[in-house]
Amino acid sequence: MEQVVIIGTGCAGLTAAIYTGRANLAPLVLTGAMPGGLLTTTSIVENFPGFPEGIDGCQLMQNLQKQAERFGARVQFGHLDSVDFSGHPLKLVVDGETIITKTVIVATGSKPRGLGLPSEAALERFGVTYCATCDGALPQFRNQPLVVVGGGDSALEEATYLTRFASQVYLVHRRDCLRASVIMQERAMKNPKIKPIWNTVVTEVLDVAAKKVTGVKLKNIVTGEASILPCAGVFVAIGHVPNTAVFGGQLETNAEGYLKVRGGTRTNVHGVFAAGDVADSVYRQAITAAGTGCAAAIEAERYLGEETENY
Ligand code: NAP
Repeated sequence: MEQVVIIGTGCAGLTAAIYTGRANLAPLVLTGAMPGGLLTTTSIVENFPGFPEGIDGCQLMQNLQKQAERFGARVQFGHLDSVDFSGHPLKLVVDGETIITKTVIVATGSKPRGLGLPSEAALERFGVTYCATCDGALPQFRNQPLVVVGGGDSALEEATYLTRFASQVYLVHRRDCLRASVIMQERAMKNPKIKPIWNTVVTEVLDVAAKKVTGVKLKNIVTGEASILPCAGVFVAIGHVPNTAVFGGQLETNAEGYLKVRGGTRTNVHGVFAAGDVADSVYRQAITAAGTGCAAAIEAERYLGEETENY
């Protein structure tokens, strides 16, 4: 039986692994489908304390993993099929194998939100993407007009990054003011290659029949005017949805699907703790994820100390 299983290897999961590793709990850490989490899709992380010049997102995650392994964490590639939290020990099915454990730290993070258009789904990987740093440099996007959808920090970061490759970046936002932080707004809005298109939504991505992106159909939501904007790629950056589907019915969530926690990181199930973006619809920062990863590890350690008689 495991003492602690940590699900997820983003900032929250790996910080929890460092702390539970140092507590001699030999945590088993499951990577899920995206080892290293969302930070591996970003370029330079400028706001993680301790790196005055910034640090590459992948490098930061490799460092965290190495640090966790140094203290005995066992990082294993694995996809969580299902959980059974109806009794103790807790049960997880990972790639068909059952794992039993005294505690679980859920750090499954979140994934990019889609526009919900059938044409968007049909053209994913054919010019529709959710990650500029992963795909922006592809030949099909070079010296072409590109569309970024969204008005938050992610959209502006993606738009700014894409100006390295694109002939023009159109920022399509549904309102006439941005949600992004002031510094990101200033950086993006003074870039001559970025052209905002306000009060506008994408209603269709063209051209499904050609199996490649050739443009977008737009609708101005104030005037109702429809138009077509030619482009070679659509980068959707409209936020994220928490990865909680696998816990359906067993862990309590709020209306948006984020795990509900009480007293810090405790979920509704004894011995199951949540950390990082999966339980945070407010801050969603690497450093807050790391902080709650630390808190969940301390909670799990205390729980194991207090509940030893249960096993
Ligand atoms: P976000 O702040 O939630 O912004 C999402 C944006 O997408 C908003 O502008 C929203 O419009 C728009 N949107 C949402 N649903 C939409 C839909 N169905 N159709 C069209 N537009 C839609 O998400 P985010 O930009 O991914 O940022 C998430 C968190 O990560 C934030 O806390 C952010 O500060 C942080 N972050 C930080 C950095 C950095 O500091 N370097 C980089 C990236 C992200 P409305 O504005 O109208 O709601």
